[in-house]
Parts: sequence; C-alpha cells; structure tokens
Amino acid sequence: MKRKELICIVCPNGCQIQAEIEEGEKIQVNEITGHLCDKGPEWVEQELVNPMRTIASSIMVEGGDFPLVSVRTDSPIPFKSIPEIMKAIKSSKAKAPVQIGDIMVKNPAGTFCNIIATRTVQTQVLP
Ligand code: SF4
Repeated sequence: MKRKELICIVCPNGCQIQAEIEEGEKIQVNEITGHLCDKGPEWVEQELVNPMRTIASSIMVEGGDFPLVSVRTDSPIPFKSIPEIMKAIKSSKAKAPVQIGDIMVKNPAGTFCNIIATRTVQTQVLP
C-alpha cells in the first residue's frame, strides 16, 4: 500500500487529497480523504489510473497572413497519447483561410478528440 498526496485542480478550493493506492498491473485506489466534495475522488481516480490532458500547439499555414495557427484538442486526451498526437500535429499543414473552431486534424492517433483552430488566419493579400 502506498500513500499519494494530490492537489485537486477541479475548482479553486484546491483540496489537498490523500489517496491509498495499490500498484500492480493496474493501479487500485482504496481510500481517498481530504476532499470537500464528490468531484475530488472522481478526479483522483482519473488522475492516478488514466490521467487526461488538453494540449495546445500550432500548425503551419500556407498562404496566410500568419505563418502558424494556434490549435488545441477539443477535449481531454489520455496522457499516454500525447506523443502520437503531437506527431500528428507536427506533420499537419493547413491552407488559409482558417476560422476559429475549424477542425485541423480529425481523430489523431485513433482518439475521439479533434485538433481545432483557436484563432483565425486570413488569406494573405499580396501588394
Ligand atoms: S474536492 Fe471538490 S471542493 Fe475540493 S478542489 Fe476538488 S472539486 Fe473543489
């Protein structure tokens, strides 16, 4: 049995949560204390067993008034998928114009998320 201390990031209260875990083939969370609400244990379980993250990056744009468009995942993704998703983002290119919310990469690395644009890039107007 091992004891882990985590700070819950679900709300600004930032509860300091203690979890008793058993590490085997799978992590088993046995007891959770220190939370003020039921969201804390849910988050701890998720964080210890299958941590999820939202990631942000940028993609090159051809013919745009900016060379890059900022992007992010439209939902949290498993932590272990990040390298493959970053590879998919890095190998992608877009053509201007790009609108906020456009899907730039659909379901990278077999996940259910999409990579979406978080800014607009207009077509470059040449003088
Ligand atoms: S346990 Fe509940 S109250 Fe505490 S930080 Fe997490 S969400 Fe907020």
